[in-house]
Amino acid sequence: MQYVTPTLKVGKMKKFKIISIYTILVILGICCLAGQASAQQERINKAIIIDAGHGGPDYGVKVSDTSCEKDLNLRIALALQKELNRIGYKKVMLTRSTDREVPLKERIQLIKNNDPLLVISIHINGGFGNKSKGYEIYFPGFRTDKETRSEPSAIIKDMTKNKHLNDSVRLAQYIQKYLDNVFPKENRGLREAPMPLMEGINVPAVVVEIGFLTNKENRKKITDDKVQQEIAKAISRGVKEGL
Ligand SMILES: [Zn+2]
Repeated sequence: MQYVTPTLKVGKMKKFKIISIYTILVILGICCLAGQASAQQERINKAIIIDAGHGGPDYGVKVSDTSCEKDLNLRIALALQKELNRIGYKKVMLTRSTDREVPLKERIQLIKNNDPLLVISIHINGGFGNKSKGYEIYFPGFRTDKETRSEPSAIIKDMTKNKHLNDSVRLAQYIQKYLDNVFPKENRGLREAPMPLMEGINVPAVVVEIGFLTNKENRKKITDDKVQQEIAKAISRGVKEGL
């Protein structure tokens, strides 16, 4: 009898400890989920700015009067805005929603005023002969003297200081991953380059050069409404998973 009571006490204490640990773990789990949900909510509530390159008298790459970069940039930017809204991003803004030239200063001011989650600039490539094709994605670089091409793994190792630059690379990688479904085997790589649009702004940003308007095969795809929707979906998925 002398030993029964202590054994029971020890058993009760063990049970109590297990229940306490379990309770703490559940509370921590709930806090963690709540934290994730509020971070996700914060992301969804922040603005996303889409910059449709060129506009007005600035045609960008021009193949003919009916086939020029500025119009296609705008069509893809509008499709992207719609798609991002559809998947839950509430505030998706465009630097221009019509065919007008928006000065760089005005574009920069819009970004500064809205402290966005990220900025995506849409362009279409041209030149290097009519055989060049494929898409490439640029992110703001440390090296502002000239454009450089680097391996993504090496770039990530270099970038430990600036969160928005790391985020830009990750965003670029995810967009690249999904654009590959639209342009299989036409990935021309991630590139680090100066981005005047983001001068002095610490926000994740990428410039997507979607194919070559000067290449017949690419042109056929980029000017197709359905492919434009696919491009918008691919970039949206990249945004959702990359940031
Ligand atoms: Zn352009």
